[in-house]
Amino acid sequence: MTTSPGRPGRADDALPDGAALPVADRATTRRAALRLIRRDGRAFALMLALNALAAGAGLAGPWLLGRIVDTVRDGGGVRTVDRLAAALVVCAVAQLLLARYARFVGHRFGERTVARVREQYVDRALALPAATVERAGTGDLTARGTTDVTAVAQTLRDAAPEVFIAASQALFLLAAVVVLDPLLGACGLGLLCGLVAVRWYLRRARTAYLAEGAATSALAELLAATAAGARTVEALGLEERRTAASEQAIERCRRTRTRTLFLRSVLLPAVDLSYVLPVVGVLLVGGAMQGRGGISLGVVVSAALYLRQLAEPLQTILLRVEQLQSSDAAFARVEGLGRAPRTTGAAPAALLPRPSPEPSPAPAVPADDRIDVTAVHYAYDPGGGGPRPAAPRDVLRGVDLTVRPGERLALVGPSGGGKSTLGRLLAGIDAPRSGSVTVGRVPVAALDPEVLRRQIVLVTQEHHVFLGTVRDNLRIAAPDADDAALRGALAAVGADWAAGLPDGLDTELGAGGHHPDGAQSQQLALARVVLADPHTLILDEATALLDPRTARHTERALAAVLKGRTVIAIAHRLHTAHDADRVAVMEAGRLTELGTHDELVAADGAYAALWRSWHSPGGPAKSRPRCPEAPGWADLPGTGSGRL
Ligand code: ATP
Repeated sequence: MTTSPGRPGRADDALPDGAALPVADRATTRRAALRLIRRDGRAFALMLALNALAAGAGLAGPWLLGRIVDTVRDGGGVRTVDRLAAALVVCAVAQLLLARYARFVGHRFGERTVARVREQYVDRALALPAATVERAGTGDLTARGTTDVTAVAQTLRDAAPEVFIAASQALFLLAAVVVLDPLLGACGLGLLCGLVAVRWYLRRARTAYLAEGAATSALAELLAATAAGARTVEALGLEERRTAASEQAIERCRRTRTRTLFLRSVLLPAVDLSYVLPVVGVLLVGGAMQGRGGISLGVVVSAALYLRQLAEPLQTILLRVEQLQSSDAAFARVEGLGRAPRTTGAAPAALLPRPSPEPSPAPAVPADDRIDVTAVHYAYDPGGGGPRPAAPRDVLRGVDLTVRPGERLALVGPSGGGKSTLGRLLAGIDAPRSGSVTVGRVPVAALDPEVLRRQIVLVTQEHHVFLGTVRDNLRIAAPDADDAALRGALAAVGADWAAGLPDGLDTELGAGGHHPDGAQSQQLALARVVLADPHTLILDEATALLDPRTARHTERALAAVLKGRTVIAIAHRLHTAHDADRVAVMEAGRLTELGTHDELVAADGAYAALWRSWHSPGGPAKSRPRCPEAPGWADLPGTGSGRL
């Protein structure tokens, strides 16, 4: 998301160019905070009441000390002093207990609220369209889910309760000095010095902390991408470029952190000064007044003690202000997820829960399973974020295509022709720049993710195995599936290895358990597809990680399970195209040929040339002969192409 700097009151002003995830503005953040408070309103009210009582009990100490001073000066009895001292101890203990209980209630309130923030974050992150996540980068999402949520958690758990306690104490102490003597109370104006500094700080802090958060996210994203692509970086000799980019990101982080450090370095000394000024004022003014007999020495002592005591709560407040500011920015980033669009696409469907059989409450429900692609143009976001971002270039240009229910369509063509991009549009991960992609006359990208999952699944070679048991991993796609259904799905994709696992479906996967290799992970993903049972499946390198024999076995098994489903296979191996009902040829973003294998070979166009080259001596068909036992459509995309 790019925004122009300088518009007041908008939190996202500080976002760097290119950041795709929104940041909530001040009003939204405030409303969200109030909502959280209201959800645990009783605990919040109890916390306020206890804080007020603790602060009230704390007032007795200095007043009683003043009384002791006056009693001693007036030659009062020892018993009076003892009684005053005993009362002082009782008040101190009461204050201690009330403050501790208030803190306990505050911490519990904080923990419950943090849990809600975390749950909401997870819900929102999972509901984000895949295209949004891809554009934003996982670094930003991860930074918000870890650094930012932790900052909010610490504030809610520690800072917020402390600030409440401190604020109550400060108010009560100030009021007490004014009640003792309004003129001495006026000495409290020395605190204004600190308030001016705080105001100066607050006006700058939010922007500075947002910039710091964004820089941290960008750095995390860059480092994660570099680590994930370490082999590619090494193979292509990109080390210097990645190092330079990392240094730039680190430098930006350093600059933003230096800025927030500068703000703190102005705030804190000013605050220190503001503690001292009122006490000095009370001693000077009170001393002069007492010399003239205007007030008693005890009153001066009490007022000085009150103002001296003010230092502690004020210190807490002002130190925590910094934390409140940074966590306010963090909360704005966490809440920003709620502003991300929800219908530009869908998460990988095989990873998501099986739909319930009840009709969806979503307004748009496809009338049937027919997919229509009409005059579609699509361009990837050029990104870059520089002063002059590159103009978007259409990678799909005027594509028209109708996929009939139950049809098996092969998408073939040279590398970069736009096959995978069309696959993403068909799966609703991206929306066309112009034109439409519809299923049952409803735009695919506008479908509610819950509905979309029931319609179309894109299978790629990027899969994920979640920490948990084999059963947990499979039930992501079908929460209600029984063990027989899970075993059936594993068998359908040829995952024979699963039967040999020590604890069967209860075997833990990942750290401390069974580590599935790439091929096994791919089979788990395919088993999820079988369980999800969508009416249309788009396969893009879906079995690329399997060895050729296992791939053929898996494809044969999958073909049997997918009987009657619409399958769109992005095919690098032309066997897939040969066995398909129809073949679509994509070249330079256009659909140039469409027909059966025989029709296209007879037409002697691009497909015929591809087919001939596939069968030429030494061509791919020779080096990878077709599996004789693989019947019909069994050659779903294999070792060359294809995606879940
Ligand atoms: P292949 O068979 O090599 O996978 P393809 O036919 O599937 O190729 P696409 O991957 O759809 O082609 O790519 C079409 C064009 O879009 C190419 O020019 C490619 O460079 C570009 N492209 C693909 N993905 C992106 C992306 N995420 N950002 C920008 N451009 C992209």
